[in-house]
Amino acid sequence: MPDALTAAVADTPKHVTAETVTSVHHWTDRLFSFTTTRSQSLRFENGQFVMIGLPVDGKPLLRAYSIASPNYDDQLEFLSIKVPDGPLTSRLGQVGVGDTVYVGRKPVGTLLLQSVLPGRNLYLLSTGTGLAPFMSLIRDPELYDRFERVVLVHGCRFASELAYAEYISEHLPRHELLGDLVHEKLLYYPTVTRERFRNEGRITTLMRSGQLYADLGLPAIDPALDRVMICGSQEMLDELKTMLLGAAFVEGHNNEAGAFVYEKAFADK
Ligand code: FAD
Repeated sequence: MPDALTAAVADTPKHVTAETVTSVHHWTDRLFSFTTTRSQSLRFENGQFVMIGLPVDGKPLLRAYSIASPNYDDQLEFLSIKVPDGPLTSRLGQVGVGDTVYVGRKPVGTLLLQSVLPGRNLYLLSTGTGLAPFMSLIRDPELYDRFERVVLVHGCRFASELAYAEYISEHLPRHELLGDLVHEKLLYYPTVTRERFRNEGRITTLMRSGQLYADLGLPAIDPALDRVMICGSQEMLDELKTMLLGAAFVEGHNNEAGAFVYEKAFADK
């Protein structure tokens, strides 16, 4: 073990565990994902987030991150932005296999299956790294037990930012255990705002115009039947929340299920 790594592991604060990076994939120069080892003591629910980070100047520098892997996996997976002068991600974007990343011991969050009422179709609406919690949820078999259809919408500026697109459309439907459920129930709808693509436009615009439903061959969302989970920028959350509340969707909480729940994909300064 290199000296720096030995020191990081030896000095691990009590509220985190020191995990080892096992793979890294750079989607663009501003977006990457990585996997780490997982402490046996870490239990979480699909859709939750946890604090992760690096030792910086002898102290842990931690930020909230959605866990992108399902809770039955041996490894943890994260999808991350690289903010050029971001305190954490300017460093995290450089990690390689074998490096240490701190992972908090207390996963939390509102994007839980039990926070939404059972229903007809479940819409998972995301922008940017807001896709991460839904990568965990779409690999939860229980999700498919509860809904007739699961619609995963991912909005980005450019098609290159549609992380996991090939995995979702090509590999997951052939997954050994989930393949049949995914094939039958999951509808993936990637959309792009700044270049030509098969689906174009902001999620809210596509919902308001009805284009989303027409493309998917589904009826428009109905608060009595359909459920929505949202993860994205504050602006996207505000717009969607207003839209859903205006359409009589009731917000759900961890202790009381509703017709929609949401979580910020990041905090704006
Ligand atoms: P910061 O000082 O934290 O951020 C600098 C600025 O960069 C912010 O003000 C914001 O404008 C912008 N920014 C930060 N994160 C993002 C982002 N993800 N997408 C677009 N712009 C951003 N980040 C992830 O990359 N993946 C996740 O799964 C993730 N999950 C989160 C879950 C929650 C509940 C919250 C609150 C945040 C989450 N974040 C996630 C954001 C993350 O906590 C950090 O903000 C991010 O890693 C940048 O850290 P930083 O120290 O480099 O810069």
